[in-house]
Amino acid sequence: MPMQTEFNKYKKDADFVAFKTIHERTRDLSVRDGKPDSFNEFEDSGLLIEVMRNGQMGYSATCETTSQGIKIAFEKAIAMTTASSKYPLFKFDQRIRPPSKGKYETTKKTKLDSLSTSEIYDFLKKTSLALKVSDKIISSTSDAMVITCQQNYMSSIGAEFEQNFDIVINSMAATAREGQETQTRSLHGGRGNCLQIGAEHFQLDAALKDCDQISREALELLSAENCPTEICDLILAPDQMLLQIHESIGHPLELDRILGDERNFAGWSFVQPSDFGQLKYGSDMMNVVFDPTVSHEIASYKFDETGNPAEKKYLIKNGILQTGLGSLESQQRSGLRGVANARSSSWNRAPIDRMANINLECGDLTLEEMIAKVENGIMMFANKSWSIDDYRRKFQFGCEYGKKVENGKITKTLKNPNYRGITVPFWNSLAGLTKPDTKESYGSPYCGKGEPSQVIRVGHSSPYALFKNIEIFGGG
Ligand SMILES: [Zn+2]
Repeated sequence: MPMQTEFNKYKKDADFVAFKTIHERTRDLSVRDGKPDSFNEFEDSGLLIEVMRNGQMGYSATCETTSQGIKIAFEKAIAMTTASSKYPLFKFDQRIRPPSKGKYETTKKTKLDSLSTSEIYDFLKKTSLALKVSDKIISSTSDAMVITCQQNYMSSIGAEFEQNFDIVINSMAATAREGQETQTRSLHGGRGNCLQIGAEHFQLDAALKDCDQISREALELLSAENCPTEICDLILAPDQMLLQIHESIGHPLELDRILGDERNFAGWSFVQPSDFGQLKYGSDMMNVVFDPTVSHEIASYKFDETGNPAEKKYLIKNGILQTGLGSLESQQRSGLRGVANARSSSWNRAPIDRMANINLECGDLTLEEMIAKVENGIMMFANKSWSIDDYRRKFQFGCEYGKKVENGKITKTLKNPNYRGITVPFWNSLAGLTKPDTKESYGSPYCGKGEPSQVIRVGHSSPYALFKNIEIFGGG
């Protein structure tokens, strides 16, 4: 294999050398009102070279994977270690790059590459048209990103692994208007399905049912009452919990934020190194795991991009903060426990501390039992807007669709539901979680972080969650 031959030329020229190649094919289609809106197909491939000298890591990437291109990239990576050796912030050792071997494949029935682009378009056209249940639906969109990605890694200490990902990101949205009122409902807050799955994802019958439901809910919102302003109980559906988990658990637990690396750009964290093992982050029923081992969640893998074997780990157990989202590098620097989360957005970025699948574990209530516990409250579905401060302490979220709960029963639909809170008191007000059969898995392909910027895919699964005495408000 030519890349192995090239690697063999350089593998002894530093204390550590690794080559990682990534090849990714993306088909990105959008259909609006039954007509083609956009279609992009692109392939991207390249090589990342990592070296270690004097305890300093150096990186360089190239899409020119010729002998000459690789030589130039290797020299640049070496030059970075020479420069940083003069001003070392920390001296790493080789334990940050384990000698892992193995192979990972997305669990699937049929490869995504077997699906023709016209088959994807046909699915989107039919679902987009199905969203038009009334003349009051003024816009209907159906989108899909279909991605296949191959990753190969080899290192001078014997690591050798291959990972193959099949990914579908598929969303639908209907916008209804009457007079001055406009309301949009989308599949799971515009994030849609974000999964590792094969061509079997594109099941038209199930999608048509979803289309019918969200369109009717958009129409229902046109005549719904505005969400009141009050302090009451709040039930969040899994398609809003995905963002609640992402913003108020995922980002503040990233160890590179806690170490200050991200302070200028993506922000810091209210979490202190001394909080691990101590901080009562949430109520006793709060159990949150980092878990890249779940079939079909979008950020599943066997190894992170430094070869660290992925395993399920508790970030928060019985409400107590246990483990940060820190790679082997951040673990060496901070002395804190971490996880296998060194990930990069592509071949042209160095891996940094990221989320993968961050999941809230289930409780023992049925949804009916949870609703029955609420005297005065609101259920909210599907994120519409969000705002959270740089320390990930204070937040405000808006949802697409609300339901009023009075004396243990759903009584009416509410439009423009919003809530706000402060991370630790909010999670300490968690008072109920539904059973595993209500759990839903979502994700986002757009988690941004790092300088230069990296946008990465993350997964979140959650049951319905009940929070007591939360500030609720209506409006836009
Ligand atoms: Zn994010």
